[in-house]
Amino acid sequence: MPAWICRTCGVQYPDSAQPPGGCAICLDERQYVGWGGQQWTTMAELGGDRQVVIREEEPGLSGVGVEPAFAIGQRALLVQTPGGNVLWDCVSLLDDAARARITELGGIDAICLSHPHFYGVNVEFADAFGARIFIPRADEQWIQRPSPRIELFDDDAEPVPGLTLARIGGHFDGAAVLHWPAGSEGRGALLTGDTITVVADRDWVSFMWSYPNLIPLDEVTVLDIARRVERFAFDRVYGGWWGRVVVADGAAAVRRSADRYVARIHGERP
Ligand SMILES: [Zn+2]
Repeated sequence: MPAWICRTCGVQYPDSAQPPGGCAICLDERQYVGWGGQQWTTMAELGGDRQVVIREEEPGLSGVGVEPAFAIGQRALLVQTPGGNVLWDCVSLLDDAARARITELGGIDAICLSHPHFYGVNVEFADAFGARIFIPRADEQWIQRPSPRIELFDDDAEPVPGLTLARIGGHFDGAAVLHWPAGSEGRGALLTGDTITVVADRDWVSFMWSYPNLIPLDEVTVLDIARRVERFAFDRVYGGWWGRVVVADGAAAVRRSADRYVARIHGERP
């Protein structure tokens, strides 16, 4: 039986003869049902006209995307460390070429996910590489494809030695970031998906309850997100799409972006 994938959000559901009645991720107000109504596909069908692309972002960090783009169009990230590799976020396709390339890069020990919109086919990746999957307990309700590989955590987890997975909330209660201290030549990198999103002016980031429907967060939550990442040293911020990277001085970018957001909520303009 096929494991169905929602064509709008790219999240995979369990094996079933018939597709699910609806996609819980897309029925939530932070997403939307596709304009043509709910549609489903499978990994086999996607592999017919799409491929996984893997490109180095910087030494020790590779982007993992799908071309042509599918659903939300995010790219995941594979972090290589001496203590094991972490796949940060996920996509909706794993093909043979990607499986071979990821094996060359050292495989995957753990999969960590910023939030449910980027769950993709994480169980397929985990089964292929024998990886653990870390999901915050606060987002347990959003797990669509259960697996014995899933481990729930509360606020922090250490998926491999030296990396910190931190739940900082906002976009989802369980929205998380991954801190990679060795990134950016030892100055540190924060992998954020769109828990903290890198915007078009890459000296800045933003924070939203819903990105497609443009529903903002409140002042207390935005300031809490900024406060929760202050304990990490990081120069770069890797957002959830190709090119969405704050390339330097990332910690200051998060701070000033939170302050600007709150200022605009209060009606203060430049
Ligand atoms: Zn969906």
